[in-house]
Amino acid sequence: MTPLVLFLLVSFIEVEPIWRLEGETRFAPKPQEMQQNPRYPWEEEETTPFKRITKEHFRCKGNALNPPHIVEQNGEVVYHYDCGGVGKHSLPIRDGKEFIYPLLLDLLNHVQESFGKKVIITSGHRCLDHNTFVDASYRNHTSKHTIGAEAAFYVQGMEEEPLQVIQCLMEYFPKSPFQRYEKGDVDVSTLPWYNREIYIKLYKPHEGRNIDHRHPYPYISLQIRYDTHLNERVLFVWDQAVKGYHRY
Ligand SMILES: [Zn+2]
Ligand SMILES: [Zn+2]
Repeated sequence: MTPLVLFLLVSFIEVEPIWRLEGETRFAPKPQEMQQNPRYPWEEEETTPFKRITKEHFRCKGNALNPPHIVEQNGEVVYHYDCGGVGKHSLPIRDGKEFIYPLLLDLLNHVQESFGKKVIITSGHRCLDHNTFVDASYRNHTSKHTIGAEAAFYVQGMEEEPLQVIQCLMEYFPKSPFQRYEKGDVDVSTLPWYNREIYIKLYKPHEGRNIDHRHPYPYISLQIRYDTHLNERVLFVWDQAVKGYHRY
């Protein structure tokens, strides 16, 4: 291309200048802010003396090394063997996943955060074998521990103040008032508390002792009464207790 042709081409192109005021923008970008990475549930503030309660805390405390309980039933000698524990079976299964009623986790985390103290779960899920092993009584056959709907615990550092802990549990339900359970068919001397969703029992130091509760403190037992997700009452179901978890 000769310089002449180039000159002719360029002279045909009309360039309009763009005029803007200083600082003029159509879409002003927001100033940038440093973002914290979201925390994983197992990442804790360094100051908290406790870990967040998850369903992992509920694993069956059975141990195959526990010697069998030998009992007499209707004139026959019966052996109750403990289960093999966490290595031998899962938590209860719902929708293909290990499941503990979320309300139990929420309540126990609420207690931990309210007091800044650690919740010690002494009995979470119990498979049927372990449930019978800890307590072979007729009443305990239908324990909700077997379906992941019950937890027994105390609070470290508040061992002697279980009533304060129960007060804290009740405060979790500002809209659902509690009543006392007065029917008397219970294994505790303190009248239990209940509302629509939960049933709370207090075990004194001489009450409700078994291999899951080998400590000298009072403890609190929580039972789920109502499943707000499925909108139905939570009852012990034999089939669920027997077949509701995986065995390895
Ligand atoms: Zn077990
Ligand atoms: Zn219990």
